Amino acid sequence: MQRVYNFSAGPSMLPLEVLEKAQSELLNYNNTGMSVMEMSHRSKPYEEIIATAEALLREIMSIPENYKVLFLQGGASTQFAMIPFNLTKNKKADYVNTGNWSSVAIKEGKRFTDLKVVASSEDKTFSYIPTIDKGELRADADYFHYTVNNTIYGTRFTEYPETGNVPLVCDASSSVLSEVYDMSKFGIFYAGAQKNIGPAGVTVVIIREDLIGNALPDTPTMLNYETHAKAGSMHNTPPTYGIYLAKLVFEWVKAQGGVAAIQKLNEAKAKLVYDAIDESQLFTAHVPNLKDRSLMNIPFFATNEDLDAKFIKECASLGLTTLKGYRTVGGMRASMYNGMPMEGAKALADHIKKFDMENK
Ligand SMILES: *Cc1c(COP(=O)(O)O)cnc(C)c1O
Repeated sequence: MQRVYNFSAGPSMLPLEVLEKAQSELLNYNNTGMSVMEMSHRSKPYEEIIATAEALLREIMSIPENYKVLFLQGGASTQFAMIPFNLTKNKKADYVNTGNWSSVAIKEGKRFTDLKVVASSEDKTFSYIPTIDKGELRADADYFHYTVNNTIYGTRFTEYPETGNVPLVCDASSSVLSEVYDMSKFGIFYAGAQKNIGPAGVTVVIIREDLIGNALPDTPTMLNYETHAKAGSMHNTPPTYGIYLAKLVFEWVKAQGGVAAIQKLNEAKAKLVYDAIDESQLFTAHVPNLKDRSLMNIPFFATNEDLDAKFIKECASLGLTTLKGYRTVGGMRASMYNGMPMEGAKALADHIKKFDMENK
């Protein structure tokens, strides 16, 4: 069985070099005589793994000194509650609704705070990035939340929302490490690991220190950032093996030349596929505006559902898998995270062209 080009939205492809390295260390990590999976999180070798993971992430993302890096569990979805628990003072928060995950964050946030949706692209099936009217923002909001890359609808913000003194909180689950972000813009920047960082089970939260220590009195211990910040993400057993794999991914990112070099690759990969779609007669991208198009997730359609199905089937026979679109969008979705090699993007673009020739 050959490895396939897996276009899954997440969990998704990891770099082959990372998997091979993990395989070579699986039974006996660094002459400890045990797997990282079997190792106490309080042991010296493990403390070194988590410290190295943090140091590498700080380096490749240029995270300023006054930010904490936390390795948590519960997925990005737990952050949807953790953020209001920790940041609520005035009981006001502004959110942008750019798709499925924003909507879920909004629904959860509404349970805890007076939440205002200050911009939305729902009117056109979330196929664009809405303009944020500054007049809509509340100066006394506790924070401003947005989803920088929209995994399901395939849009991304290419500018930072200007929020003045209101902390900018960003769900970057599907684009962390795929392009360069200026971390000093953010109050909280968070991501579930399973798209660009490693296996499912780890959530990375990067938080400005002054935002820690203000949790609501009833906040559960495990949902308080202070608990994890004080304990260096070791209040309880962290997702040890996932953090180890994240460390291998961070090493890999660095070896590729860092996030800026990876961004160039991602731009080239995305261009191959968008160009093939745009130049075809049969296919249309869900997001028309070039500036709003995600580099990571590309939803697109053929002219009818039968052709969609035929295309997906043909792709699968070529080892291009998991291309079926999300149920609310339909058609196809090609997710191409950092782990997707250029050859995978090229194979997909080539088949789009071939299919177009044969079926138009
Ligand atoms: C995948 C995803 C989530 C959900 O992450 P979980 O770790 O499954 O909770 C949230 N936001 C975005 C933008 C995502 O892509």
